[in-house]
Amino acid sequence: MITCGNRRELNFTKEETGAIAEELVEELREEENGSIRDFVGMLLTLGYGGFMDSRYRDLYPIASEAFHLAKEEGIDFYEFEGKAEKKLLYPPVRKSFIIDNEAAGVKCPCCGSTNTSRFIYGKRMPTEEELRYYPECIPAEHLKNKVEAGKVILRRSEPETVEVNGLRVQTSPRRMCRECGKRFKRNPVYISPDGNRIADYRDYVTEIRFRIEAFGQVGREIVISKHDNGAGVQIRHLPFGKEAEAYRITPDKWGKLLGRLYGWVDLQDWENEYENPQALDGERWDLKVTLDDGNSVEYHGCNAYPPKWQDLVKALNSYAGFGYRVKKHQKCAVYTDQEKDAV
Ligand SMILES: [Zn+2]
Repeated sequence: MITCGNRRELNFTKEETGAIAEELVEELREEENGSIRDFVGMLLTLGYGGFMDSRYRDLYPIASEAFHLAKEEGIDFYEFEGKAEKKLLYPPVRKSFIIDNEAAGVKCPCCGSTNTSRFIYGKRMPTEEELRYYPECIPAEHLKNKVEAGKVILRRSEPETVEVNGLRVQTSPRRMCRECGKRFKRNPVYISPDGNRIADYRDYVTEIRFRIEAFGQVGREIVISKHDNGAGVQIRHLPFGKEAEAYRITPDKWGKLLGRLYGWVDLQDWENEYENPQALDGERWDLKVTLDDGNSVEYHGCNAYPPKWQDLVKALNSYAGFGYRVKKHQKCAVYTDQEKDAV
């Protein structure tokens, strides 16, 4: 009887595997730095108990995906056994590992704090009774600890969704900043002011205009306009007068630029104004994103830079040849109220 073919078959669909891997990444982010864990144990605390017996073969794709996603988020895995700590290069499927998540805090797009909590929708706090009587309550206990530690906020309601390109997409935020209250980590869904247009920003942006200028000094402007085959780029050196550089970028680069702006820089979460009230003079920047329906979204700053400033500049440099170098003074994040008081 030939059965080995079946043993490799997955019980989870690709989407389910991806969703569980994402849950694991959040867990890895929320664990104490330097703690020792293993994927099987982590899945148990998440409530995937059935895993242990019948679905063990599903572990590899999940562990593998979680490992790679986690690394993208700045989480590293170190070998637990042996004397020296060694960075793991392959997914630790059944082995314990040491978590290094120091660089994995999620920054608030408004104030730059990494003291942020994750929303979990459709769940409530377990009651004392549930914790006491049900053996499957490891997840409940785990969740309760997380709520108490401020890592997660439970919402009884299901998240809000809209339909984009035939799929249900969540519009409710995934995180909240505990310093300034900003809710963020939203999907890049554009809803026009009249509510008639719902689209993914990445399909809907037609022009990006970014300009940075130091008062009385020099600056630089880039305009990237989508056309049928990629996009046209114009760069001006300010003050005006010098001729603009003009060239084209491929559809691939345009796509990657938008992917970056709405998948990593998270423009959809940015504030429209960043200001440093302490400085009277200095540097100003403006970013304008024009959409297919003629509407636009604008962001401005005056001597204050969003937490993802460097990532924005990097994206414009890599995919559109902006050639701008982030200045030292721009590396400080925006001013929170506490910092304002301290200045
Ligand atoms: Zn904040």
